Amino acid sequence: MINSNCYKLGAEPSVIRSLFAYGLQQAALVGADKVYDYSLGNPSIPAPGAVNASIKDIIDHTDSIQVHGYTMAAGLEGARRAVAHDLEKRFALPVKAEELFFTCGAAPALISVIKALTVNQNSEFLLLAPFFPEYVPFVEQNGARAVIVPPDTDSFQIPLDLVEERIGPNTQAIIVNSPNNPSGVIYSRESLEALAALLRRKGKEYGRPIYIIADEPYRELVYDGAEVPFIPCIYENTLVCYSYSKSLSLPGERIGYVYVPGFAKDSHELYTAIAGAARIMGHVCPPSLMQMVIERCAQERPDLAAYDENRRLLYGSLSAMGYECIKPQGAFYLLVKAPGGDSMAFSEKAKLRHNLLLVPADGFGCPGYLRLSYCVSRDMIERSLPAFKALLD
Ligand code: PLP
Repeated sequence: MINSNCYKLGAEPSVIRSLFAYGLQQAALVGADKVYDYSLGNPSIPAPGAVNASIKDIIDHTDSIQVHGYTMAAGLEGARRAVAHDLEKRFALPVKAEELFFTCGAAPALISVIKALTVNQNSEFLLLAPFFPEYVPFVEQNGARAVIVPPDTDSFQIPLDLVEERIGPNTQAIIVNSPNNPSGVIYSRESLEALAALLRRKGKEYGRPIYIIADEPYRELVYDGAEVPFIPCIYENTLVCYSYSKSLSLPGERIGYVYVPGFAKDSHELYTAIAGAARIMGHVCPPSLMQMVIERCAQERPDLAAYDENRRLLYGSLSAMGYECIKPQGAFYLLVKAPGGDSMAFSEKAKLRHNLLLVPADGFGCPGYLRLSYCVSRDMIERSLPAFKALLD
């Protein structure tokens, strides 16, 4: 006998992965220059020079047993101290090394937090659409319930009334992802403050905290000097899941962390439960080399010039053609309204007629829209523009 849920998840590749695979197949047939792949969110800018220099230096000058050995499950003290110091400096919060638990990226960080907060099969997690599609299996395969909050397609900010309608006695947390994948929108301070007030009120009503799980892989990917409010400064019961996948272009190296602020309700027990949840998932420790890199590079920030150029080019060109686009303030995604309203049909037509690979946002809880990842070459964007024009005509 085989677990049918696991089989189903393994057998069904995501729409994004299917488009990506189709692109590779077509590139072999018609040439890579005739395939316009906007499917994957794989960073296209190199890791900062300091990261590669640190890797070389660590390999050359640190005892190899240490570099390749196990560390404490929560991570190296030095790496945790470096991140705590960086957060403290930037957000004026008293962050301590003991409040950080290093993980292999944001995905396992999220699963550990969700697992630690799932008390029974009625536990509910609110997902603000549009959302990262993997949240659904993260919650449901853990035996809890995913409750979807439909998007406010006027502003793509948090629709407070719809959130309130969905909060109940079993609500454990709401996952907030800002800058957002797939909209590129940053939730405003006012929107987050209103959410915090609502959660405090509801928490009081139910006699227990409702947590915010702040999923922040795109925190540093911001344009035009926009502000990304740090949610623990706004709402005390916030658990941050961070990743260096996008900010330092290290998605394959698998490094990130959970930050459990000491002032969050039951923070010590929660931190311990998160460590336990990670243990159940087979977490031993994140890659030691990468922890050493973060110890040296916690203060490094990406050079966003290439993404910003792509953002301007794609948003400007598609808007000028007549596409309805949500202007991204962060991350590296552009959300576009599907002409005709049927995102699946439009994506299929774009794929079959032009090898233009656009992800229907239905799986992100946002039907009728398409997600374009612009972490690609500028040249590809330029070559793809006639295909966008032809599709609209
Ligand atoms: N959360 C969001 C919103 C993402 O877009 C991604 C990856 O694309 C993740 C989490 C997972 O990131 P990681 O590579 O750190 O596991």
